[in-house]
Amino acid sequence: MTAQFRPLLKRFGRLRQRLEESLQARILFLFIGLLCAIMAVSVIAAGTGIAQFTRNSAARDMAANARVFDQVIKLRTQHLRESATLVARDFGFREALALGDQPTIGSALDSLASRTSARSAAVIMLDGSVIADPAMPLPQGKLVLPMLEKGRMDGIVRLDGRYALAVATPVEMPDLVGWLLLFQPMDKAELASLASLAAVPIEARLIDRAARPAALASARSGQILLLDTPTGRQLTRVSDLPGLEQGLAPQLLLRHSLDKAMASYRSLEFILIGIALAGAVLGLWVALRLSRSIIRPLNSLVEATQRVAAGHVTSVPVFGHDEVATLASSFNAMVEAIDDRERKIVHTSLHDGLTGLPNRLFMIEKLDRAVARQSDRARTLLAFIDLDDFKAINDSLGHPLGDALLCHIGKEIQAIFPDAMVARFGGDEFGMFLSGLDQNADCPRIAARLHEALNRATVLDGHAIPVSASFGIAIGPDDGHDSETLLKNADLALYRAKTEGKGTYTFFEASLDELARQRRQMEVDLHQAIREGGFELYFQPLYSLSENRCKGFEALLRWNHPQRGRVSPVQFIPLAEETGLIVPIGDWVIREACRQAAQWPEQVSVAVNVSPRQFANPAFAQTVVQALAASGLQATRLELEITESIFIGNVERTLASLHALRSLGVRLALDDFGTGYSSLSYLRSFPFDKLKIDQSFVRTLDDDPAGQAIIRAITTLARALGIETLAEGVETDSHMQILRLEGCDLIQGYLISRPVSAGEVAALIDGTSHPHLAARNAA
Ligand code: C2E
Ligand code: MG
Ligand code: MG
Repeated sequence: MTAQFRPLLKRFGRLRQRLEESLQARILFLFIGLLCAIMAVSVIAAGTGIAQFTRNSAARDMAANARVFDQVIKLRTQHLRESATLVARDFGFREALALGDQPTIGSALDSLASRTSARSAAVIMLDGSVIADPAMPLPQGKLVLPMLEKGRMDGIVRLDGRYALAVATPVEMPDLVGWLLLFQPMDKAELASLASLAAVPIEARLIDRAARPAALASARSGQILLLDTPTGRQLTRVSDLPGLEQGLAPQLLLRHSLDKAMASYRSLEFILIGIALAGAVLGLWVALRLSRSIIRPLNSLVEATQRVAAGHVTSVPVFGHDEVATLASSFNAMVEAIDDRERKIVHTSLHDGLTGLPNRLFMIEKLDRAVARQSDRARTLLAFIDLDDFKAINDSLGHPLGDALLCHIGKEIQAIFPDAMVARFGGDEFGMFLSGLDQNADCPRIAARLHEALNRATVLDGHAIPVSASFGIAIGPDDGHDSETLLKNADLALYRAKTEGKGTYTFFEASLDELARQRRQMEVDLHQAIREGGFELYFQPLYSLSENRCKGFEALLRWNHPQRGRVSPVQFIPLAEETGLIVPIGDWVIREACRQAAQWPEQVSVAVNVSPRQFANPAFAQTVVQALAASGLQATRLELEITESIFIGNVERTLASLHALRSLGVRLALDDFGTGYSSLSYLRSFPFDKLKIDQSFVRTLDDDPAGQAIIRAITTLARALGIETLAEGVETDSHMQILRLEGCDLIQGYLISRPVSAGEVAALIDGTSHPHLAARNAA
């Protein structure tokens, strides 16, 4: 059973899926379904109406025909009666009857029958005997007599089993002797000729009530019934007729075929169905057009959506003002909004939020294109710019002003080079490139103009800001055939500019690449030295002028490079600082300095240089504690030399770290004093134990009277603040004399001793190894 329905279910499932997937199919399905239902109902209603009408009119026709039958029978009865009455009154006839003259009676009856439309005639005597032509069918006198006696003068009788209309008239001589009867056969042929008078085809038949069909058992006389017969549906009517024979109840049965009656209306039904089908086809066409008018814009919306998803900007045409049109305009508005947002996102991702300038990514993208087009006659000049000491400006003047300065610089560069692409790379770094420069373009002039723009004081928000910036320049195609190489080379040039001092610029040279390579090699070697212990400490005496003795030593780092020999800290400390390697190196220096100093006499201290990066390390104080603990050196014998650069950045945190170190008991010296530009303000914030006056002030003492005045000012100020002073780089006796005169507490320099190895320290403490020391000790 299920197997039988399986294909059907499958097909139904497919149809359902199709309907679910397609709006057009759903609209068509619904519309056509509805239309067919309406058509079907209309056709059925019309068909039923037609059938009812046909039935009613057929019934009406039938009733009219029945009346025609009654009328005809009535007329015939009347006609027969008149004829019979004439014969019954005829004297000759009555005489023949009285005499029992059979031949006369017979010929009289024959002539009577032939004169009238009657088929036969007969006389029924009072005893029920029948006188008639023996050749003709005879009535049953015994059965007819009782009816005659009751006074019934006409009705249906059976002649040899066949129905006939009989009309009687009494024969009196003068008394009643019998009745003369005339018979008109009511057989099939007669009834058929009667039926032919009817307007509609009718079948007429006489039946005996007792023998009528069961379907008509309950039918009343004159009632019309609809019967289903083997030959089709029939409208049937039975009506009572008078009977002139005892036991006979004749009825006239009329039949009219409803199917035949309706046949004439069938064409109407076909027309109706035709109209319904035409309506359905028209409906289908309308539904198709309607659904297409909805689906087509929807489909173009779907296509447009797919185009948008594929990243295109598109719009759909809007027709009219209906819902679909509203949807289309909403879609267009949405696409525009998306496009707008995307453009903003792209702009944000390619621009710097603060200055609004293109960012590094955007610039590289543009540079790629410019570099692809470059040639010897269309060169690309790329400048990599970095502001000097921007951190200090930010810290001292606040971030809002720092931001304003960055915006100002960006605008300044763009104003001077309107054709250039200017970008902010992040922080205080900018990039700028000019493309399509011909061979005669004056690149040094361009660099000079850029330098001028970047290195002039500006006033922002009432503050005069001394702007200084360094930059490196690379020119394609000589310095690079792709943007990456150009950027790298401009960066190398910038690095060189930075190492040369503030506010400078450098053009890229191939040697810079070599320097960079050397730097990378040095970094690798530094790692190896940390691992394998390639460092050594040298010590330089710190000589007290008042006590005439060596009060301590400054530990100075030396790197014994396997190939290059002894490397000066000036060469590798900046790289170690830059790479962060200074932290492990500095840790080793503190531990080693403490370890060495612990072996010296108690009154001799050790000074260790601490770099800003090392100082900023949160674990620095812990390193100091561990070095002191491991060596057993008294904290007061350890002096940490720091430079003013540690104050760049978070001043609060720096001060907190200084106080923490001071609380350990170690001494703090401010190294290279006078080289920074706000030294005095730091002295106010933190009471250092010692100021180490930078050797640049000492070097000029001989020929510059102002140098002496500066030394005096520093020593006076330091004494007022209770701070010891030491002068660095003392190489001559006259320097020493002047410094002694100006109240300097200590000196350090080649005059006393060059930095010496750990093994030579003891001799210096004894004062025997150096003539100056020895002489002073002796004095
Ligand atoms: P600094 O701390 O100012 O050290 C003094 C420098 O001046 C030493 O150079 C020393 O040799 C040199 N010097 C001393 N007397 C004279 C003199 O009479 N004339 C001249 N021309 N120079 C003199 P050095 O050893 O080459 O150190 C250079 C710098 O390297 C140091 O300057 C210091 O800033 C840094 N440094 C040295 N060792 C370390 C270290 O262990 N850690 C850190 N962070 N920096 C170190
Ligand atoms: Mg020092
Ligand atoms: Mg120094």
